[in-house]
Amino acid sequence: MQQPNFYASARLDRAAHRRGDPDWLERLRRDPTTRIIPIWRSRSLVVTGEQPQAVMPAVATAAALLEHAGEAIFMGLIDEIAHVAIDLSHHDDPLALAPIARSGEFVDLRAVGALLSRDEGSMLAYARGILHWHRQTRFCGVCGSPTELREAGHLRVCTNPACAAHHFPRTDPAVIMLVSRGDRCLLGRKSEWPDGMYSTLAGFVEPGESLENAVAREVMEETGVAISNIRYHSSQPWPFPASLMLGFYATAETEEINYDPAELEHARWFTRAELADGGAGIRHRPRSDSIARRLIETWVAGG
Ligand SMILES: [Zn+2]
Repeated sequence: MQQPNFYASARLDRAAHRRGDPDWLERLRRDPTTRIIPIWRSRSLVVTGEQPQAVMPAVATAAALLEHAGEAIFMGLIDEIAHVAIDLSHHDDPLALAPIARSGEFVDLRAVGALLSRDEGSMLAYARGILHWHRQTRFCGVCGSPTELREAGHLRVCTNPACAAHHFPRTDPAVIMLVSRGDRCLLGRKSEWPDGMYSTLAGFVEPGESLENAVAREVMEETGVAISNIRYHSSQPWPFPASLMLGFYATAETEEINYDPAELEHARWFTRAELADGGAGIRHRPRSDSIARRLIETWVAGG
């Protein structure tokens, strides 16, 4: 088995069959070992520093947080310990709440994610993603009435009886691909990225499109390069705010680059040596917790 990508938990048991059991969920809310994951305006509670750590207080000391939040989302079990996520966005100063006072800072997970343990990183990413969906789904997209939480936070149902539409958490598929030809691979950069950074091409899958169609279309649109031999590699949840990255390799059939300036600031070919550890291109590589980095490193290593 290959190692899952960062933010994809290998240890979480989502226990989806328990989500519809209100008695069990009520017991979890009172179980002193249940851990609470507070999210505030899409930010995660973390002790920052050289080795950041997620703050996930137990009900034993932080039961009051559940009252402050109202809705609690059951995330799953790790070693039989339940984890629930709560949204404190309606508080202007959540660190004034006694159970988490001075326990850490609310930070953008993208700023610290790569430094967290994989378990903590994946749990905070999941919490951020599902609470984002709840905030976006307060009202029914069909009739505009308020919705209410069901299935321990994995469903929202429209409160208008004439509508009663069911809304499920959504994830937007995006393809991300390393295109190569012999000893060179094609990377691009966006103007908003850190100076000098290049990465794999990527884009959202459109309705009516297969993943393979999307890979070929995005590469052609962004760089004008034609490709073949599209191979799936691995996937990565990327809930910033709601993506699932599907990673591919592909072979370039053409070399001339005509990049689209509306999409990319630049695109160019890199050799393996340019991207290898210690190579001049090391400063070009994307962040270490991204599937883009993994696709590049696997290719550089001959994979
Ligand atoms: Zn409705």
